[in-house]
Amino acid sequence: AITVNNLIKSVATQEGELTILNGINMDVKLGESVAILGPSGSGKSTLLGLLAALDSPSAGEIWLDGTALSVLDEEGKAALRKHSVSFIFQSFMLVDTLNALENVMLPAELSGIEDAKQKAEAMLERVGLSHRLNHFPNQLSGGEQQRVAIARAFICEPKVLFADEPTGNLDGANSDKVADMLFELNRESDTTLILVTHDMQLANRCERQFLMQSGQLSESTSKSQPVMKSVSVEAS
Ligand code: ATP
Ligand code: MG
Repeated sequence: AITVNNLIKSVATQEGELTILNGINMDVKLGESVAILGPSGSGKSTLLGLLAALDSPSAGEIWLDGTALSVLDEEGKAALRKHSVSFIFQSFMLVDTLNALENVMLPAELSGIEDAKQKAEAMLERVGLSHRLNHFPNQLSGGEQQRVAIARAFICEPKVLFADEPTGNLDGANSDKVADMLFELNRESDTTLILVTHDMQLANRCERQFLMQSGQLSESTSKSQPVMKSVSVEAS
């Protein structure tokens, strides 16, 4: 599970100290899917960066699977990023000079996994891209690039996948495809999904929703419902 206790992140700026995250508490079970919503600048990406150990908090604790991230040294954090957590981004972040297959193989090779090539081919097949193995990122559509990024993120079988606006650069049809892939892998591999998104359709597919506002996080108790539905319930 992921447990977050009273997490605070502040940074020094020219105008003085700026508190970006102001006492975040959160408890996510392994295998759950979670959406984090909230306005621009509210602290969503900052929180993901802390959860994935890409950055360190000013105060408070993060526990991942019984390990406090604060006790990990740089080597421990690197091992965590290699074996337990994975990240995908709005801008895909593929390596331009590697084709789809090589991009997906990369983390497996770095981790010394055997059969990296076969595993990468199997992952690309799962995301529906067997016909694109030798294509370079600039020869792929946005949706295809994000599916390569998903295949790359899942090849080392992470316990947790963090995704920051995974559908932010995609049109409706491609968003749906990428979301289908994420939830299929969440179900089949029991990977915990923590998604930051403005996309309500994506958020509504998650089991739980949190709202970030000015550095504070609250859980929404009910998913947003279409207006017509609540009207008809009141009328009956
Ligand atoms: P968006 O939806 O636009 O991506 P966000 O919720 O992800 O927004 P963050 O990127 O977490 O927001 O940033 C939260 C706030 O903290 C913003 O006002 C940002 O300018 C500020 N901020 C983040 N990192 C730093 C930093 N290193 N130094 C100063 N301010 C920072
Ligand atoms: Mg952000």
